[in-house]
Amino acid sequence: MSGDRAEALAGLHAEVDACRRCAIGSTRTKVVCGVGDPQARLVVIGEGPGENEDRVGAPFVGRAGELLTKMLAAIDLRREDVFITNTIKCRATLVEQGRVKNRAPMQEELANCRPYLDRELAIVQGKIILALGAPAAKTFLGPAFLITRQRGIWYTGPAGIDLMVTFHPAYILRLTGGEMNAVKKLVYADLLAVRERLDAMSSAAASTGPENAGTSPNDQQSATAAQLTFGDL
Ligand code: URA
Repeated sequence: MSGDRAEALAGLHAEVDACRRCAIGSTRTKVVCGVGDPQARLVVIGEGPGENEDRVGAPFVGRAGELLTKMLAAIDLRREDVFITNTIKCRATLVEQGRVKNRAPMQEELANCRPYLDRELAIVQGKIILALGAPAAKTFLGPAFLITRQRGIWYTGPAGIDLMVTFHPAYILRLTGGEMNAVKKLVYADLLAVRERLDAMSSAAASTGPENAGTSPNDQQSATAAQLTFGDL
């Protein structure tokens, strides 16, 4: 089963690799499709690849990725226990004073790429989506979504999957001092809500028999690391 999903994801990757629907399909170095456990219960979704991701061909490999790894560790999850992807699969860039810079994805790019994201979700069949940052959240919850007021709440996401929104690690990295600590606390609370829901799913599955006991044993640990603070992130 895991092999089937991995194969389906590889097939999808090959299709995305050949995609030239947007201009950025021709300017990117590598397409960046989702990585991780093809049977993960948690799917983490960011905005889109940056410079490092474009070079490597994998999501969240730069500084924001390092922080994401620590955020996951704070709720006892390893990167390889979850599925990590983005709303768009090519790096969106602009050239300013001769330098190539990241830019926000355009609506057309989001729309062109959405079927690929939906197919990733259909293959992995995750039970919870964690959307990182307002741009990713808006693709599911609409343009009026306000991350400062509306994060940390459970929503029904695409295909009826439970959806939690928290701040993007790149945003946390741009903050300093007390402001950074305040945002880390909010993010930690959102992560704990995700951990609790994963644990509740494990308990429910265990009480109805081993055949229903989830798909990924790695993420069925208790939240021991939930005692961690975000102080050293
Ligand atoms: N930011 C994102 O939203 N996605 C990545 O893959 C890397 C940084």
